[in-house]
Amino acid sequence: KPLMQAVVLGARAQGQTVGLVPTMGALHEGHLALIREARLQADLVIVSIFVNPKQFNSDSDLKSYPTSLNNDLDRCAQQGVDVVFAPNAETMYPPDFDTMISAGALAKSFEGKSRPGHFDGVLTVVGKLFTLTFPHFAIFGEKDFQQLALVKRMVRDLHYPVEIVAMPVIRELDGLALSSRNKLLAKKQRKQAICLFSAIQEVQEQVSMGEKRRRTLISAARKHLKKASLFTTDYVDIVDPKTLAPLTEVDRQSRILVAGQFSGRKPVRL
Ligand code: AMP
Repeated sequence: KPLMQAVVLGARAQGQTVGLVPTMGALHEGHLALIREARLQADLVIVSIFVNPKQFNSDSDLKSYPTSLNNDLDRCAQQGVDVVFAPNAETMYPPDFDTMISAGALAKSFEGKSRPGHFDGVLTVVGKLFTLTFPHFAIFGEKDFQQLALVKRMVRDLHYPVEIVAMPVIRELDGLALSSRNKLLAKKQRKQAICLFSAIQEVQEQVSMGEKRRRTLISAARKHLKKASLFTTDYVDIVDPKTLAPLTEVDRQSRILVAGQFSGRKPVRL
């Protein structure tokens, strides 16, 4: 039996509540918000750090993905994390690894459309992490909103006995969502990256003034995104939070999904 499972089963046998925060490392305040919430709710807090090769569909993206394990371990210790689970790729995926969890229709649009296979990789590793760390609950950020929806659906569909806790997006002072990939942004790109938040704010403002038409809201968002000359928008839409179906009539529960990239020698996706 993997050591990780033995540790958790021991804790559970003593009546401890186990919380998992899955990450790919290069920890920042966004991750720390999830970890603090886990610390509040669990007796045993596990943070997993694993740059999951199966969810990358570009080799250069995988190679350039930032890592900082020593720093991550310090931060976890500061937050009172009990266990950092940082398996290596060979343990997670031996050469004859041959079984994947396949994401369904929810993965056909947005991030899933632009990155074929990405969500199969995500669900496969999340499923494995759930089996290895057997948590009562696991915490995910709304920054990856489609991922969160897919994980919730997988948990229901495959009967994982894990409660999914969602946490809001943590942002820099200028509104850019914290992300491990932000480190890769050149100065000019970093400046322009606020276009995403400007677009979101514009939509929020118009919705609060009573605007409900999806097309009107999307073109308002696009105006802001276009101001960033180096940024290419991949998608921007307003969707139902559960089904991710685009909405003709927008309401307060609706979510705006937006992503794109700074292209160039080293592309950065936001
Ligand atoms: P990652 O290491 O980027 O795969 O992210 C690990 C977890 O942290 C995921 O559930 C993300 O949604 C979440 N996360 C990443 N950045 C943020 C952020 N800025 N605010 C809230 N959650 C975040």
